[in-house]
Amino acid sequence: MTDSTSPIRYSRRSIIAAGAGVALTACTGSDISNTSPSTVDPSNGATGSAGVDPTVVSTTDRGPQLAEAPPYSGSDPFRLGVASGDPDSTSVVLWTRLLPDEPGDDFEATDHRVAWEMSAAPDFEKPVARGLADAPVQHAHSVHVIAENLGENSWYWYRFRIGEFTSTVGRARTAPAPGSLDELRFGFSSCQQWEAGGYAAHRYAAELDDLDLFVWLGDYIYEYGPNFRGVTTEDAGERVHDSAEVDDLDGYRKRYALYRSDPHLQANHAARPWVVTWDDHEVDNNYAGLVAEDDQDTEAFAVRTIAAHQAWWEHMPVRLDPPNGDPLTIYRTVGWGDLVALHMLDGRQYRDPVPTDGEPVPLPGVGEIGVESLGPTALDPDHSMLGADQQDWLIDEIASSAAAWTVLGNQVYMHGITALPGAPAINTDTWDGYFGNRAQLFGRIHAAKSGDLVVISGDFHASTVAALRADPFDQTAPILGTEFMAPAVSSQFPVQLRDLVPLALAVNPHVADFSYANGLMICTVTPERWVTERVDVTDHLDETSTVAPTARYMVEAGVPGEFDLAALVDANA
Ligand code: FE
Ligand code: CA
Repeated sequence: MTDSTSPIRYSRRSIIAAGAGVALTACTGSDISNTSPSTVDPSNGATGSAGVDPTVVSTTDRGPQLAEAPPYSGSDPFRLGVASGDPDSTSVVLWTRLLPDEPGDDFEATDHRVAWEMSAAPDFEKPVARGLADAPVQHAHSVHVIAENLGENSWYWYRFRIGEFTSTVGRARTAPAPGSLDELRFGFSSCQQWEAGGYAAHRYAAELDDLDLFVWLGDYIYEYGPNFRGVTTEDAGERVHDSAEVDDLDGYRKRYALYRSDPHLQANHAARPWVVTWDDHEVDNNYAGLVAEDDQDTEAFAVRTIAAHQAWWEHMPVRLDPPNGDPLTIYRTVGWGDLVALHMLDGRQYRDPVPTDGEPVPLPGVGEIGVESLGPTALDPDHSMLGADQQDWLIDEIASSAAAWTVLGNQVYMHGITALPGAPAINTDTWDGYFGNRAQLFGRIHAAKSGDLVVISGDFHASTVAALRADPFDQTAPILGTEFMAPAVSSQFPVQLRDLVPLALAVNPHVADFSYANGLMICTVTPERWVTERVDVTDHLDETSTVAPTARYMVEAGVPGEFDLAALVDANA
C-alpha cells in the first residue's frame, strides 16, 4: 500500500519548522550564540554551543516564568495534558494538544501558537530550552516540538503556555549516549479499552519515579461504538464510548480526546517519555494491510487508514514527520546507549491477509472461534507479517547495532501458542499465522549477529513469559530469545477461553507463565541480566484498585529463554 522504500528518517527540520525552538545552555546559560536550532549539530551534546533566537525570547530573561505567551482568550486549552517521547541522547519530543472545553468556531478555525519551556529543575529556575511552537488547525491544534541540545542521560521538566494558561508540568529525559551501558528501567503495556475498566495500571506507573521510559505496544484506543461488551460480560459503569464506531478523522480525533481525558493516563504520560507503536484498534479490529474487519472495500479502508494514522500522530509524542495524506511509516529504533536497541515495529499495516486455508479447529466448550490448523499460507516464508521493506530495515538496524540487547517492540505474540494437544491449532491473527515468515525472520536476525533477543508484545489481553524458537512447537529446537507479553491495562481476556488456559499451558511448555490479570510489565535491564516484573491490577473496574508486582522473571545475558519464576512475595513490604 505504501512505498516505504527506506527506513524511517526523521526530518528534524520539518518538525522544528512547526515550532521555532530555542535552546539555552544547560547550566547558567552564560554562553549564548545565535545559532539557529535547526542548524545546530545535536552531536555537540549538552555542553556544546546552544542556540537562541533573540526574536523569540530575550536573552536576559531567565526567570522562572515564560516571558511571552502567545495571546489567547478562550478557556483552559490544556485539558489533554502533556507528553514526551522518542528520546535520544541529546533531544526529546514534547507534545500537547490545545482543546478547550467548548472550542467554538473561532478557536477551531485559528492556527494557534504556544510557548514551551524546558528546565533542569522542576521549579523552572534552570531553563535550558524554550521556544514557540505551532498548534495548527491542520493537526487538530496538536504541538510536536523537539527540545534539542540537552545533556545526555538527564531528566528535565517542561511545560507549555498560552494566554493566561500554563499546562501541567511534564518530566522528560534523554537517553544515555552511544557507548554507555547504563541501566534502563521501563514499563510497558497495551490495550486500554475505555469501556472495559479503569486505568489503575497507569496510576501505578505514574507514581514510580525511577521508570526511564514507558513503551506502548498498541490498542491505545478502540474504534468500537458504545457499549461494546464483546467477549466480556462486565462493564466499567460510566465509561462508555461517546460515539458510534469511528472511521473518519473527526471521529478518531474525538476518540483520542476521550481516552486522553483520563487523569491516570495523563499522569503516566507526564511522568516520562513514551515510545509508542500501534496495533489494530487504532484503525479497525484485526485488520491486515487493506483488509478490514467488516466488508469495507479496499478503497474506503485506505482512506480510513490515512485518517486513523493522522489522528494517531496528532496525539502521540512521536519523532515522525507530520502526516501528508499518505499512510504513516512509523517503524523506528530508539537506542539506550549501547545497552538496548528498541526496534518499534508495525505489524499491521504491511501484513499479508491472515491465512484462511487451514482447517478450523473447534475448541472444547467454545466452538469455532478462528483457531485453525497450520495451512500452506501460514507456512509460506513469503507470507509476510512486516512486509519485505520493514523486515529488511529491521535486519539492517540489527546488523549495524552494537546494543547488548536487541529488543523488538511488537504487537501480537511471536512465541507461538497451540490451543490443543496434537497438531498445532493456531490463532491466525498472531505470528503463528505467519509461521514460515517468523522462522525466516529469526534466521535473518541470528545471521545479523544481534545482541540477546528480547521481544515485547501486547494484543492478547494476557501476559506471558516464553522462549522463542523458529518452530515454537518443536521443543528440541534451539532457543533464540525471550518474549514478554504485557497484560492489558483494561481490556479483558475472553471469558469463554479462561477455562482452556491450563490445557493450553500444558501443551506449550515454552510458555513459562500466563496471566489474564490486567496491569503492566516493568523491566530492569543491565548488561548482565534482564529482569521483568509482572504487575497486577486487583480490580480492573476500579481506578483506585490495588496494583502490585506479583511475579518476576529473570534472564541472564547469553542464556535466552531461561527463566527464574520466583514469585515476588511481599513485593510491597
Ligand atoms: Fe487489545
Ligand atoms: Ca490488538
